[in-house]
Amino acid sequence: MKRRSGLPVGDLPVHGPVERDLPIPASALVIGAHPDDADFACGATLARWASSGSAVHYVVLTDGSKGSWDPSADPTEVASRREAEQSEAARAIGASSVTFLGYTDGELQPGLTERRRLTAVIRSLRPEVVLGHDPWRRYRLHPDHRNAGWLTVDAVVAARDPHFYPEMTDGSHRPGALLLFEADEPDHVETADGWLDVKMEALLAHRSQYLSTHGIDPSSPDLAAEVREFRGRVEAQMASHGALADVALGEAFRLITDI
Ligand SMILES: [Zn+2]
Repeated sequence: MKRRSGLPVGDLPVHGPVERDLPIPASALVIGAHPDDADFACGATLARWASSGSAVHYVVLTDGSKGSWDPSADPTEVASRREAEQSEAARAIGASSVTFLGYTDGELQPGLTERRRLTAVIRSLRPEVVLGHDPWRRYRLHPDHRNAGWLTVDAVVAARDPHFYPEMTDGSHRPGALLLFEADEPDHVETADGWLDVKMEALLAHRSQYLSTHGIDPSSPDLAAEVREFRGRVEAQMASHGALADVALGEAFRLITDI
């Protein structure tokens, strides 16, 4: 049977009022477990902000080296290909920088060494808004997504407190907002009307993931039809997120401002 899985960010339960649209931040940092996670979760939001003058920065925690269903694929080649794809996607979004921390795909740990490195990145870039995986999302299987969530939350706390790593050149930094994607209980939507095309451009840059993640069969004689179907699934997901806040297309998050 052909795989037609849900997109990485699935349908979401809602447990209260849903707010809409933060003010455009001067700077934003998105922290994803793998190359492609940020583009799936918030590509439209990042593109809209970047077009309005935000400095948008990506951190990719792992090397994505297990992102192939081909048992004979060389993990080193997969990783270098995925890094190039993520860089291309970030250019489509209009991002200012991409930082690859290079942890082994599937083996990310939310430990103290990892926390220190991510804290240094946050303090260096000093983003107004941080976006990352929701570590409290239930029934999620992939360990990197859980651990990326913990690592992000822990590093935001460490970055804000001057007694963590006082030896760092960059002083403490407290972001104004944390937007958690794949949210267990979303309460915030960023509107994405008009930004589907740019998000699609970013997602389609991740060619190595067509079969395993996008549900696009790259060997199909009608690749254009496969891409159209994929676009339909992305649009349907953005419509379901947008419906939470009565907009046509959106991206849903859990918003934390008490940082
Ligand atoms: Zn991922």
